[in-house]
Amino acid sequence: MWARVLMVLLWPMMAAAQDFSGLARLDVAQSQVRDTRGGIEADLYLSQAVPYRVFTLDDPRRLVVDFREVDWRGASREGLLNADGATDLRFGVLRPGWSRLVVDLAGPMVVAEAGMAVSPTDQTARLLVRLTRTDQAAFAAASGAPPDPGWDLLTRADPTVPPPVRDPDGPLIVAIDPGHGGIDPGAERDGLQEKALTLTVARELAEAVNRSGGMQAVLTRTGDEFVPLEERMTIARAAGAGVLISLHADALEEDQASGASVYTLSDQAMDDASERMAERHDRGDLLAGLDLTGQDDTVATVLMDLARQETAPRSLRLADTLVEGLRAEGARVNSKPRREAVLAVLNAADFPSVLVEMGFLSNPEDRAELTDPAGRALLVAGIVRALQIWAADEATRAPLVRQ
Ligand SMILES: [Zn+2]
Repeated sequence: MWARVLMVLLWPMMAAAQDFSGLARLDVAQSQVRDTRGGIEADLYLSQAVPYRVFTLDDPRRLVVDFREVDWRGASREGLLNADGATDLRFGVLRPGWSRLVVDLAGPMVVAEAGMAVSPTDQTARLLVRLTRTDQAAFAAASGAPPDPGWDLLTRADPTVPPPVRDPDGPLIVAIDPGHGGIDPGAERDGLQEKALTLTVARELAEAVNRSGGMQAVLTRTGDEFVPLEERMTIARAAGAGVLISLHADALEEDQASGASVYTLSDQAMDDASERMAERHDRGDLLAGLDLTGQDDTVATVLMDLARQETAPRSLRLADTLVEGLRAEGARVNSKPRREAVLAVLNAADFPSVLVEMGFLSNPEDRAELTDPAGRALLVAGIVRALQIWAADEATRAPLVRQ
């Protein structure tokens, strides 16, 4: 209850957002999430006051603190997290201008107190969020993202958005989806983050697609920001996408796995590697602290399944062509390059979609290829070649479908 009341009090500050200038910096040395006698507290020191809000979410249990633009430079999970009552935390950009801290809770706790105090001498601010242990029923009752008109930017995903009418003679719109972003970094090895790598390749691929003639690229994110999976599809749909390619580069415990592989959507049991892939990726939205309750609409699901029957074989043909294209251009390709998984980002019903695992950050040779512009050029060339071959083949196969 406390958390909800708090929201109402804090939201008027949103209107005054423009009064704050520059980025608030987190004082890394002083800030900490620590145990208290009754639970935990997040004690955060900022170089200036910013609008914020606090709430908890269930399943998994987590505390979410949103800020208007905080500079996290220098902050680390290890430096901030010092509590048995919290199992993990992460932070980062949620949207341009918005930051989020998510703390995984070891047990049910409610927000007992949250407030920001501003120093009258130097205008620095201290946000203290105190949580006290409670039972699961009370936690569940108090949890949930507050309904805020200011935050509907996070729920723009709408599978019913009609695509623009496609010009049959117009270019093929290729939606390129750089995996992860913002608060969700994806895999990390040796200071290399998957979210940065996917964005780099996405930009290079978009350039190559636009140069190729007959195709036009659109990105589902253009900066280091968090974009929910459903919204990525909505962006592609609104752009009139004829195809979506999601880019990823995973890391595994062992470093033997190497080379690119191409995933298509599965409605069946997955092999172990694909299962782990799906776990890591569909958890992204939860990790970022989205409230995904009530997102399943049965009627919409059935309609989408029907449409998917038409796009599924086209996705399979694209995936096979991609593997051939990558091999033809000399990119590193996995020994089992065609895989299937239940991945939300492949869930579009009205255009074919595939996920390209460009290689593994855990493998030194893959890492060398992916961090070298010449290495990435092989990947990009392979994908563009495949898109061209596939698009030409689809056009002869079912000329009516493209009208
Ligand atoms: Zn990924």
